[in-house]
Amino acid sequence: MAAWEGNLRKVIPYTPGEQPEGAGIIKLNTNENPYPPAPAVMCALREIEAGSLRKYPDPSASALVEALAAHYGLQEEQVFVGVGSDDVLAMAFLTFFNGAKPILFPDITYSFYDVWAGLYRIPYERQPLDGSFHIRTEDYCRECGGIVIPNPNAPTGVAKPLAGLEEIIKANPGVIVIIDEAYIDFGGESALGLLPKYDNLLVVRTFSKSRSLAGMRIGYAFGSRGLIRCLQDVKYSFNSYTMSVAALAAGVAAIQEDSYYKGTLQKIIRTRERVKAELGKLGFSYLDSQSNFIFATHPGCPAQELFEALKQEGIYVRYFPKPRIDNYLRISIGTDQEMDVLLQFLGSYLKKKTKQ
Ligand code: PMP
Repeated sequence: MAAWEGNLRKVIPYTPGEQPEGAGIIKLNTNENPYPPAPAVMCALREIEAGSLRKYPDPSASALVEALAAHYGLQEEQVFVGVGSDDVLAMAFLTFFNGAKPILFPDITYSFYDVWAGLYRIPYERQPLDGSFHIRTEDYCRECGGIVIPNPNAPTGVAKPLAGLEEIIKANPGVIVIIDEAYIDFGGESALGLLPKYDNLLVVRTFSKSRSLAGMRIGYAFGSRGLIRCLQDVKYSFNSYTMSVAALAAGVAAIQEDSYYKGTLQKIIRTRERVKAELGKLGFSYLDSQSNFIFATHPGCPAQELFEALKQEGIYVRYFPKPRIDNYLRISIGTDQEMDVLLQFLGSYLKKKTKQ
C-alpha cells in the first residue's frame, strides 16, 4: 500500500441508473419525464448570447431564485438553488448534519443518502419501513442528529400523509428535518405549507422530473431564512458558481410556462394509473405509487429474470439487488406507447413462462 493511500477519503459511491444510447431503446430506469421541456425553455436557451457565456454566471442565481420565490409565494431569502437536487441535498447534509448523533432515514429509500453520510462521515441509522413499505412516524420521534424523508418515497413511490410528517418535524425542534419532494408534483401532500410554522424544516425539490429538465441539473430548497443563509455560507465555501448561465435561463423559463408542465403532469398521472391496472391484470402486485414510477413484483417470475429479459428487448427498468426489495422492479412512467410495448412484452413473457 502506498503511503498516500492512508490519507485517502475512501467512499462507496452511488450507482446511477444506466444511460443507454441507441434507436428503439425504451428507457424506464431513471424516472425521467418522457415529454420534452416547455417550448419556452428551448427558446430561452437559443436566446443565450455568446457574450454571456464569456462571463461567470450570477453567483446568487437571483433570476431563478426570484422566479421560484414569486411562483411559490415565498421570500427570496427562503430559496436556495443548486445543480440538481442531488447538489442541494449534498450541500444540506454538509451544512446541517455535523453532530455526533446519528441522522435518521428509511432503510428502503433513495440510495444516495447513505453515500453522502459516508462521504461526510455523518453517523446514520436506517429506520425500517413497515411490512407494507410505509414510513412509521414513531421511528423518527426520538433523539437524533437530523432526519431525511423523501415524500413520496423512492423507489416505493409511497407517499406519507402530511399529518405524520408534521408530527416528526414538531417532535424534533433541535435538528433539521429535510423533506425530499423530488416526486411531489405527481402526488402526495407537500410540506411547503408547514414552512411558516417550523424553522427546522427544509423542503428540497427538483426540475428533473415534473419539469422535464434532468439534463439541465436544477434543484432547489425552501426553508427559513436562517437555514438558507447557512446553506449559502457552505455553498460559497465550496463553489460560488454552481448554476450555469444555461441552467438559470432554462429554469426561469420552465417556471414561467407553468401551464405546459401541468398538462404533461396530468398525462403522466393518467398513464401511471392505467399501467397500474394493466400490471394488476398481468398478475403483478404493486405499491400505490404517487410518483412517476411504479414498484411492482410478480409471484410467478423473479424480478431479476424479468429485468434481464426486458433489457434484452431494449426496455430498461431499474432493479435493486437489496434486502426486502430484490424481487421488485421500479418502472418509470413513459409515454403511453412506450408503456404499451412494455405491457405487451411482459404479457407474452409471462404467458410463455406459465406454459413451460
Ligand atoms: N431525490 C430523490 C428521491 C430522487 O429519486 C432523485 C433522483 N434520482 C433525486 C433526489 C435527485 O434528482 P436530481 O439531482 O436530478 O434533482
